Amino acid sequence: MKKSKQQICKFVGCNKQVYASKMKFCGEHERAFQEIKKVGGKYVLGALTFIAVSTLKKK
Ligand SMILES: [Zn+2]
Repeated sequence: MKKSKQQICKFVGCNKQVYASKMKFCGEHERAFQEIKKVGGKYVLGALTFIAVSTLKKK
């Protein structure tokens, strides 16, 4: 079996494939992440923590 280049959304609990390999999230979470970045650093920090936890869990 060939390994797919498609990547999986980094968001916690989400196993959807991302649209483009350079993206880290599926369409839904990519949009949410952009909104979070607009809102402010406090939320960005929370999101990054979520991502870090997610990455660790997937290891
Ligand atoms: Zn997702």
